[in-house]
Amino acid sequence: MKDALRILHLEANPSDVDEAVAALAAEGIACEFLRVETRADFVAALEQSGFDLIFAEYSLPNFDAPSALAIAIEKSPDTPFILVSGTVGEQTAVELLKKGATDYVVKHRLFKLPIVIRRAFREAAERSERRRAEEKAEQNLQRIRALHEIENAIAAALDLSDVLRLLLEKIELFSPFPVVATVRLLNRESGEVEPLVCRNLDEAEWRINKKRTPSGRAKRICETKASLVVRNIQTDPQTFNQEVYRQCGLVSFLGVPLIAKGHSMGVLSVYTKMEHEFCQEEIEFLYTLADQAAIAIHNAQLYDGMARANRVKDEFLGVMSHELRTPLIVLLGYIGLLKDGMMGEVNKQQENALEKLLGCAVDEINVINTIMLTTQIEARTITREYRSLELSDLLDHLRSTYKVQTDKKDVKLTWSYPTAPARITTDGEKLKQILHNLINNALKFTDKGTVAVTVRAIAASKVDQGSELSSLDSYDASKQRMWVEFRVTDTGIGISKETHRFIFDKFYQVDSSQTRAYGGVGLGLYIVKKFTDLLGGQIELESESGKGSTFAVTIPSQS
Ligand code: ADP
Repeated sequence: MKDALRILHLEANPSDVDEAVAALAAEGIACEFLRVETRADFVAALEQSGFDLIFAEYSLPNFDAPSALAIAIEKSPDTPFILVSGTVGEQTAVELLKKGATDYVVKHRLFKLPIVIRRAFREAAERSERRRAEEKAEQNLQRIRALHEIENAIAAALDLSDVLRLLLEKIELFSPFPVVATVRLLNRESGEVEPLVCRNLDEAEWRINKKRTPSGRAKRICETKASLVVRNIQTDPQTFNQEVYRQCGLVSFLGVPLIAKGHSMGVLSVYTKMEHEFCQEEIEFLYTLADQAAIAIHNAQLYDGMARANRVKDEFLGVMSHELRTPLIVLLGYIGLLKDGMMGEVNKQQENALEKLLGCAVDEINVINTIMLTTQIEARTITREYRSLELSDLLDHLRSTYKVQTDKKDVKLTWSYPTAPARITTDGEKLKQILHNLINNALKFTDKGTVAVTVRAIAASKVDQGSELSSLDSYDASKQRMWVEFRVTDTGIGISKETHRFIFDKFYQVDSSQTRAYGGVGLGLYIVKKFTDLLGGQIELESESGKGSTFAVTIPSQS
């Protein structure tokens, strides 16, 4: 207990206060009493200075304990309030305890006062300990939530500066007052630590100031990979431009390094506007945030690097494909001339050899074309060219390109499509490419049986009534568009259900082993999916291993 307790005593009778003083003194408890007897004096005393205890008589000529208790709870909730009264009944005292009084002592038993106040202090200490623990738990919870929020932002690959801004916002969770926070990035070429984002600062001004002053402290943090605390940055002799900090009102500084894979990438700094001693807990929380910031920056740099590498790769593939394609086309031309006897007679054996050469060259060109197309898709340079066309013309043409190839196999290619006029507005070349890829795959992965191509046009009104196309959520009834469904069904090797979700991925092949039985590069279905999307359509796959496959593409006629 303290040397002399300060007690505010609501009491009309001065001799009763003397008796209380004596009762406490008898137990060696020194105290200073302030006696008040009106509401105004009671309020003024509470507002003026802190008391360790409040004693209150139940009723006074112009005031009473219940009213005093209500005021005390509002103005000084942690100060024990003890009813010290002579005329109060048990029931009344209990009522007051229920309202928040700490205890009560009847005046003719004042010898109990020391026990009561010791108990009151003990309980108050326990209460405040509990409250501190609760506040701590709540603060920890808030920090964990904040870290999750930041993690989610990083995982969602949000823009780097958005992630960092969110992170700086969370720094205030460790500080009872607003802080200024910045993230600066180490420029490996110049060695300078350059501004990236800031909070509670004029960003433009900050950038200009940082350009003018060398980043001495930040550099040191990067070099040593250790945090740095400066109690007063305005007066610290190592501050290059103290005036800037004075103008911004920044006083104490804490900077921690941003480290990813063992390398310093920059600095996360916090400044306070009053002198502040950063405790271990604050430094640790800032380190945790710095780890998150480093991950976000590292990811963003990785992503940038990958995007750059991808661009280079795409450009390379584009150029290479072009360079490979040109001589192949010349080769094809000469093989054709030779085979057709335009350059002298060829015997049967030579013709067979030329036939094989031709087949290989065509395959090669197809692969190159596929790669070129993929490069264009990746570079987003593919455009749609909608034209109105007769559906049966498109299919007749497509069908004619399969006349020769299928004769070689034990596979029958069948076609079923409406011959009645049906005009459709779409990009015919893209549509043909989709169907080519699907039919080629069906033929490739079917050794025996049939490959059936079926096409049906669906009038908008039918789509309206019918149930089979109800999944077409892009269908716009108000525009009354026509939809066309193309199905390519084969009796081939089928595709196991587990692989359906990868089947349209770039370079995916169910069997990608070196010893696989079927050729290809795994780009055909990728192109099919991209082009179907481009035409505003949908694709569905029905297939099981060993039970054949059906790919159904449904596209709208554009209005
Ligand atoms: P690929 O050049 O390998 O044919 P695709 O992108 O066209 O590349 O097809 C990817 C993979 O999907 C193929 O390697 C094959 O495993 C599987 N696939 C595609 N179509 C069929 C089909 N009709 N029947 C069985 N498997 C198929």
